[in-house]
Amino acid sequence: MSAFDPITFRSLFPLLEEKINDTEIVYFDNGATTQKPLCVIDKEQEYYRQYNANVHRAAHQLSARATSAFEASRVKVQHFINAAFPHEIIWTKGTTESINLVAQSWGMNNLSVGDEIVLSHVEHHANIVPWQIVAKRTGAVIKLLPLDDVGRIDCKMLNEVINEKTKLVCCSHLSNVIGKINPIERIIRKAKSVGAKTLIDGAQAIAHIPVDVQQFDCDFYVFSAHKMYGPTGVGVLYGKMHLLQQMPVYQSGGEMIKQVSFSGTTFNDLPFKFEAGTPNIAGVVAFSSAIDFISEYQLNTNNHYKQQLLDYAFAQLSELEALEFVVREKPDIPLFSFIINGHHQQDISTSLDVANIAVRVGHHCAMPLMEYLHISGCIRISLAPYNSFNEIDYCIGTLKEILKDHNNEFSSNNSQETLDTFGSHKAVSPSEEMLLTFSQAKSWDAKHREIMLLGKTLNRMPKTLRSDETIISGCESAAWLSVSISSEGIFSFEADSNAKVIRGLLVIVLAAFNHKTSHDILHFDIEDYFEQLGLIRHLSPSRGNGLLAIVKKIRNSVA
Ligand code: PMP
Repeated sequence: MSAFDPITFRSLFPLLEEKINDTEIVYFDNGATTQKPLCVIDKEQEYYRQYNANVHRAAHQLSARATSAFEASRVKVQHFINAAFPHEIIWTKGTTESINLVAQSWGMNNLSVGDEIVLSHVEHHANIVPWQIVAKRTGAVIKLLPLDDVGRIDCKMLNEVINEKTKLVCCSHLSNVIGKINPIERIIRKAKSVGAKTLIDGAQAIAHIPVDVQQFDCDFYVFSAHKMYGPTGVGVLYGKMHLLQQMPVYQSGGEMIKQVSFSGTTFNDLPFKFEAGTPNIAGVVAFSSAIDFISEYQLNTNNHYKQQLLDYAFAQLSELEALEFVVREKPDIPLFSFIINGHHQQDISTSLDVANIAVRVGHHCAMPLMEYLHISGCIRISLAPYNSFNEIDYCIGTLKEILKDHNNEFSSNNSQETLDTFGSHKAVSPSEEMLLTFSQAKSWDAKHREIMLLGKTLNRMPKTLRSDETIISGCESAAWLSVSISSEGIFSFEADSNAKVIRGLLVIVLAAFNHKTSHDILHFDIEDYFEQLGLIRHLSPSRGNGLLAIVKKIRNSVA
């Protein structure tokens, strides 16, 4: 292969040529899912255009072609992770389903009261919740491996946590928040020494580092195609053959049987016994192109450009005074999680979004890790080799602007004329006033600014009122609502959130509902109000859902 050329490489991704509001998209959310190169998109189309048919079943040539492409992809994955046999590769929907399969099939049949399942503090919910369910049903107990001070699973604690009661050790190869490679070979060795099985969550690792399951000697290794330039809805469960053979079926129906009869049904051999129903054939076929692509550009081995991006982004981010990485030290892959002191992550991410910079913010499906780190959430920038130094500069420049803007807003707080959202002395109602304000703010940028300004006008709720009783579930960042009613049946609401953007949205919602009767609240057409404000289409689904959760809580409290 010739030297890696980032400009040519980027041009292979059609989405990166798209614009939003005439501005290029800076996609820094590759940890959530990567963009897809043309070869993967083309391959998926090729299947639908040229040999769309069901696999393994029909006696016609189209099906033979589809089956052969489908099975070729399995062999490709086998070689990619150096599995011993192709039927050790089971197709699933993704990492989550792969883990659920092992939990339900292996876990439910091999764990019993007092057995220990060892996880780590850094796990994604996908590698926690299935085990909690299995533990509850079997009486097994979950134990946790702590992290060292650079965020890797702490090997010094292996002897303390893993013992003869341990039946299974499950941990991520690379955390989706910390970006550090875990010492999985040592963990696997320790697990084996006590006879425990091992499952490695490779969702984040697979696009970045070489995986050799025989060298690791893990029992299970799981990952998703969509995080490695492949299609969504395709995942892999690798399992050692003898274990997969012993494991009972997971889902059942067509394809996974040998013989069905009311006098007794027999199941298919590996890998089909775990692949009930029609799979995502197009996705599996196109996944093979994603693997070729990774290999061709050496994306999981020695891609120097990726290392340069990592070094550069780390150096630039480190220079921002208010920025604090969630763990010290440079990460092993270009994935940076941080907080900005004095600013809520939601506020930073919406401001970045206005500048067309896509980052991930929140708990990253790792709430126990957030608790462990004593933070409510963080901002994550995760890069791929189609990102550029210019994009990093643009992001850093935008962050500096945001911080400057926010600081100015804070310092000019008292001189700002605050909107009287609760006032009843005005001729126009607060909701009408809100509509007027937003009708003048045409662009999303202007509307966003308005929301942030409104956020400053909301009085903070006393800490004592921010409790489990007043919390609004469904909001990504914490939000609270307290309700009181006068003797005349007029409802008053107080609300608060840690994020200024959510506080702004709360002001907008309260403008519609505060100081009204139950009848007026329940009959107010909130959907039309949001439509007229022109907000919903700009809010991310989680923030949109948060808004609806606030409305629901208000309505429930007066109904
Ligand atoms: N584990 C880790 C470490 C992840 O990063 C993710 C995805 N964010 C998952 C598991 C779940 O992957 P999927 O949603 O593709 O099933």
